[in-house]
Amino acid sequence: MRSLKTIALLLLAVSTAAVAADNPKLLSVKLSSDTVVGGNQLHGTVTLNETAPYDVEVSLAADPGNAASVPARVTIPAGSTNASFAITTLRNGPGAGGSDAVVTVYGNYGVTKSGSFTVLPPPSFDQMIDRVVQRERILVAAMKGMHPLAETYIQDLHESKSHNVEPISDHYFLGRLDFDNGPQDVLFQKQHAASMRAFLSVLSAAFTSRFLPRGFAQMVLLDENFQKSNYYFNFVREEFLGEARCIVIDVQPKEKAQSGLFTGRIWVEDREFNIVRFNGTYSTRSRYTYYLHFDSWRLNVQPHLWLPAYIYIEESGTKLKNPPFHTLYFKAQTRLWAYDPESLKHDEEFTDIKVDSSVNDQGSVADKSPVEAQRLWERMAEDNAIDHLQKIGLLAPRGEVDKVLQTVTNNLIITNKLDIEPDVRCRVLLTTPLESFTIGHTIVVSRGLLDVLPDEASLAMIVAHELGHIALGHRLNTNLAFADRFFFPDLATFEHLDFARSAADEEAADHKAMELLANSPYKDKLANTGLFLEALQDHAALSNLISPHLGNRMRNHNSIRMAALLKSAPALENQHVDQIAALPIGSRIKLDPWNDELKLTKIRPVTLLSAQEKMPFEVAPFFPYLSYDEPKGQAQVAENATRP
Ligand SMILES: [Zn+2]
Repeated sequence: MRSLKTIALLLLAVSTAAVAADNPKLLSVKLSSDTVVGGNQLHGTVTLNETAPYDVEVSLAADPGNAASVPARVTIPAGSTNASFAITTLRNGPGAGGSDAVVTVYGNYGVTKSGSFTVLPPPSFDQMIDRVVQRERILVAAMKGMHPLAETYIQDLHESKSHNVEPISDHYFLGRLDFDNGPQDVLFQKQHAASMRAFLSVLSAAFTSRFLPRGFAQMVLLDENFQKSNYYFNFVREEFLGEARCIVIDVQPKEKAQSGLFTGRIWVEDREFNIVRFNGTYSTRSRYTYYLHFDSWRLNVQPHLWLPAYIYIEESGTKLKNPPFHTLYFKAQTRLWAYDPESLKHDEEFTDIKVDSSVNDQGSVADKSPVEAQRLWERMAEDNAIDHLQKIGLLAPRGEVDKVLQTVTNNLIITNKLDIEPDVRCRVLLTTPLESFTIGHTIVVSRGLLDVLPDEASLAMIVAHELGHIALGHRLNTNLAFADRFFFPDLATFEHLDFARSAADEEAADHKAMELLANSPYKDKLANTGLFLEALQDHAALSNLISPHLGNRMRNHNSIRMAALLKSAPALENQHVDQIAALPIGSRIKLDPWNDELKLTKIRPVTLLSAQEKMPFEVAPFFPYLSYDEPKGQAQVAENATRP
């Protein structure tokens, strides 16, 4: 060890010669932690005694070099006093044998400074399993106090003789998760509670289980009463899921354990040993009972808290000969969100308006004219409805996706010289079914619809129809201006709120929309929007996908919204790889399950290899990029700090 240290110092000494006497000198090398488990990272910070007049390169070295590695140098940019660098410790370095190892990190600029930390041995596999079980039990306890929304969308599949797999029917359930008696869905009223029962009873012939009658949300938990003694655990490998380094472990129930226990594979992140993904099914003794196969993902939405966010379910069940097994063939997605009721409370939007209007009022002491009063009254009804939808987790808080919608809306307003008071706003409904509607002067588009639209012109088509309603003065029922109209249980929301229009209003809005599009920057790009409508017609079997919660259906038995655009559209060619009429579900929008914020996904464009990969309107497996909560938290703090 002594000889290693000498080499490190010799290396550092070389750079010393280049630094003149009156230049800045290194003041300190500080480390982000005193201890670290072998295999993990920590950060070092080098600080100068004065602001760098130019870019300053500080040489770095770690000793012993077989326990940790640092970059050869780090640059403190001109105008700064410090810079940070990553220190990587080795999993099987000194310390791995069971004893601690002290590592010293040296920095040199003018003088040599150092800082030390201790590398702790990684826990044994057995100790790690103890931690995993403990973390999982903490999660189960935490989930008992939470009531996120849970949405499940199922597509029944059919495979043709040419092995073309296509969805031929669908099912949809939206509910609030209730863990008081184990995980279970409490469905929204008007939300086909009967159809959930019907669907499950069809399944139950094949899927007798104590889990399934509670709905799909059961698959958020690996085991409600996770006991180490019930399972065999076998290390498989290490693997990164996004930035989370995971230990992959196969988990199987022991022979003597009861049936209905998890059997499959778990991914455990190696900082705190939380399960971040599990993939498999539940165990069974009988060849006549069968559980669904699922791939369940969790996101680190708060420090130390990985919450269930996505579940992909797929069954082909073709191996068993006895009916009805061979007919069972479907895929489904469950999404969970609205975990934090606090962050869902209405944002400053409404407060801003009130403050603004009181400022305006100071200029004139006059009462509102009847016309102004009517406008304010209507806006109040609109704000009440939006506020309610956001509070119960159905509407996203204002964010970057609204801005995309607002840009398209403004393009249409400006080029058509529309004069609309009060101004038009845009929001996103968080559910999957394809729908758009207006609440007063607010245009609402569902996340599912935004996901499948192929391009901006198609979005303009959706927005133009809603703007048509607004431009034609189609009004909101102002009974919503009375606060007491919202005193109903969350789950009765769809019974009490309805923003659907009459057939005559729909037709008028379509007509107006064609006029708005003809004057807009989108007028030469409408062919593809007609193609989207053709694809929608082509998927008539997916009736639940176009069953709206709050607005009008996009397509009826013999009519489709904006049907005039079909005339200019090219023929739909399902087998043509280059013709993209509609995207798979989940293509564009990423939802933060904690606070409901939406972000546009950063997905690299992929060259499709076959027409099968187009998957219009289809559900697909999830593969989120897992990341730790800390950096996001810091970014948010910074954003808040700069907000005026
Ligand atoms: Zn409409």
